[in-house]
Amino acid sequence: MSSEPVIGVLAMQGAVREHVAMLAEAGARAVPVRRAGELSEVDGLVLPGGESTTMSRLLESFELLEPLRARIAGGMPAFGSCAGMILLARQTLDGRPDQQQLGGLDVVVRRNAFGRQVDSFEADLDFAGIEAEPVHAVFIRAPWVEKAGDGVEVLASVSGVPGVDDDTARIVAVRQGAVLATAFHPELTPDVRVHRLFVDLVRKAA
Ligand code: GLN
Repeated sequence: MSSEPVIGVLAMQGAVREHVAMLAEAGARAVPVRRAGELSEVDGLVLPGGESTTMSRLLESFELLEPLRARIAGGMPAFGSCAGMILLARQTLDGRPDQQQLGGLDVVVRRNAFGRQVDSFEADLDFAGIEAEPVHAVFIRAPWVEKAGDGVEVLASVSGVPGVDDDTARIVAVRQGAVLATAFHPELTPDVRVHRLFVDLVRKAA
């Protein structure tokens, strides 16, 4: 692969344009993906936030579910933010019974985990592999990782969220091989470091 990998952004819902801009800034050629043909041409894929139940239904009607599962099982690097993390998980708690999983990550996530009263919040996180400054994280009806398998590296956790009663540190960023996921939205801040981490994963996977 050239030093400019081609990275798709799943363009069903969510901050597609923001992800495309971040990936370009991080040194990739970023393209929207809506069809299986487009999926087959990318070196990696970003799954934006949105509503995982709706995205799951859209993936079915765009006939992308099986092609996407096949590419992820075949080792294609993927990065999911928020609803994207939910889609990549092995299992979702508090999901809809017909909600589909893509299964690149051996984790169990809980949807809307921080509770209704904390719809959204921001926090500064220590993030493994990202040095110097903490990552400013924007959470919007975010999931957390409730259980992570042995092969999953925990990259960031959050605790002391205002409005959340217990102080347990909750896992909000993980990596398993070339699959990266954050419960928050790095595309909604000017900080490009999480996207750069993903572009590096895509380069290494080539
Ligand atoms: N709560 C949403 C879901 O369940 C995720 C929210 C988001 O992506 N910002 O899919």
